[in-house]
Amino acid sequence: MRKKHIVITGGAGFIGSHLCGRLIKEDYRVICLDNLITGSLENIRHLLKENKFKFIKHDVTRYIDIKGSLDYVLHFASPASPQDYLKFPIQTLKVGSLGTHNALGLARQKKAKFMLASTSEVYGDPLEHPQPETYWGNVNPVGIRGCYDEAKRFAEAITMAYRRVHNIDTRIIRIFNTYGPRMRLHDGRVVPNFIYQALTNKPLTVYGRGKQTRSFCYVDDLVEGIFRLMQVKADRPVNLGNPCEFSIMELARLVIKLTGTKIKIIFQPLPQDDPRQRKPDITKATKLIHWRPKVELAEGLDKTINWFKAKKALSLTRL
Ligand code: UDP
Repeated sequence: MRKKHIVITGGAGFIGSHLCGRLIKEDYRVICLDNLITGSLENIRHLLKENKFKFIKHDVTRYIDIKGSLDYVLHFASPASPQDYLKFPIQTLKVGSLGTHNALGLARQKKAKFMLASTSEVYGDPLEHPQPETYWGNVNPVGIRGCYDEAKRFAEAITMAYRRVHNIDTRIIRIFNTYGPRMRLHDGRVVPNFIYQALTNKPLTVYGRGKQTRSFCYVDDLVEGIFRLMQVKADRPVNLGNPCEFSIMELARLVIKLTGTKIKIIFQPLPQDDPRQRKPDITKATKLIHWRPKVELAEGLDKTINWFKAKKALSLTRL
């Protein structure tokens, strides 16, 4: 039987690279596109020797030209850490708009299925809690996070338009906070920040008073959810994330405990428009794909800490 051919944009990123690995294991042929502004060849080095895997350095805001047939286009390209989209606001807007348009155009040309990696950021600073997919969100379009939130909201809108006008078989997943190996040490998100700080004996930087909440999903759980969702039809967005909610203070204390360090917690100003609470309602995913995250926060953090320790040992000169 012919292997399924897949294009994944952003395949050298944190989530994208884990997904590439899973798809190769499932015997798909994977073409990974990435411009490497936040992704890294390190993330996919182990896949480069596979003949089912091909990497093409390409900025998907420009026309995507792929030879041969395709079964699936997975659009995962985008900066995703607040620090990154503050640094690359225009690229973030372009990859969410022009990049999604190009990825949809490719799916249309190849008669392929399409999946958009959207985000819990489409809910902004949510006034409904937990967040079901039916909630329309509370986003500040002109704030510092607007470039990411609105790019993803546009991406969802154009995906729905292509579905309605061109009958593309689309799926939109809204990914909540995800963590695990291959996050960059200086990614800026809270999990890598705290782990890096703990491993280098620096105080943990809690923004605001640390009362804001997030719900953290281990990357393997997320990839399982994505893989299952690829196999079913879903005409509307589906939340994927771990519904166990923690305050940022609770997370800081847990990282201190798990790393066995005696460092302090210091408080820094809360960034503008930082969502006060976030927790996915995953009823829809549970019904549709019988999925629930399995990895508890302490277990996932332990694995991530071990990976960071190994990475730190390798790159001591860069710390
Ligand atoms: N945060 C923090 N200290 C840090 C980094 C982040 O207290 O060193 C907070 C941040 O203000 C936010 C939460 O942790 O409330 C999650 O931030 P992150 O950047 O990981 O992702 P977000 O969910 O905000 O996109």
